[in-house]
Amino acid sequence: MTTAIISDVHGNLEALEAVLADIDSRGIKRIICLGDIIGYGPNPIECVDLVRTRCEWALMGNHDFGVLYEPTNFNAGAESAAFWTRDRLDAEADDNLRRERYEFLGRLRVRVVETCPDGRTSLLAVHGSPRRPINEYIFPDDVTNAPDKLSTIFERVPRVCVVGHTHVPGVFTDEPDFYPPGELTDSTYLFTESEKAIINVGSVGQPRDMDPRSSYVVLDDRGVTFVRVPYDVEAIAAKIRAVPQLPEWLADRLFEGR
Ligand code: ZN
Repeated sequence: MTTAIISDVHGNLEALEAVLADIDSRGIKRIICLGDIIGYGPNPIECVDLVRTRCEWALMGNHDFGVLYEPTNFNAGAESAAFWTRDRLDAEADDNLRRERYEFLGRLRVRVVETCPDGRTSLLAVHGSPRRPINEYIFPDDVTNAPDKLSTIFERVPRVCVVGHTHVPGVFTDEPDFYPPGELTDSTYLFTESEKAIINVGSVGQPRDMDPRSSYVVLDDRGVTFVRVPYDVEAIAAKIRAVPQLPEWLADRLFEGR
């Protein structure tokens, strides 16, 4: 079944609504989420509610973990945003609703293995990396700077792995090599028998590849296609600036996608 894969929403409601509308316009019925639903952005409640109703399942990201349990290796701004986000969840007056949201976050899975729509290729889904699912980053630079790290990681990839976490979309192959979506024909990576791939789907709510548009991918029986969706950055930035606990730079970076 054709599946839309989203990740790293980070409480950015404008971006999430734009991406969901784009997914709906393509008639795609199945959506999965690779984590970091909350953290950084001003609309954590709304994003949790949309993801828990629209996605078949979602993974635990380091920011979901940070809000739910404790912020691990967060900078001061990210930590402040995590505690503010927790306060928002706690402020819900409806006991059932508050409990449902926490239960949803508490049940987020760390690692999922399923079969791709082609019926043959096995798909591993994690937020960060197959080695350390919640916290490890796989950077494009690792191809040249840390090939040993990549080969250790690829040992844990069955054929295809999907990740988020760096907010930089693209495809790692076990060469090792990295292909940003712009270097792929029609922004599409086709599965091959001979090659393993780790696909970073990019970020819905805080892209960091110098393109401010939201990023997600469409997975079908041939491979994955990267999609970009513009959204109202001004609106979300104004909401971030209105919350003292959310640092200014969280708004500034959205305009440039960095
Ligand atoms: Zn993230």
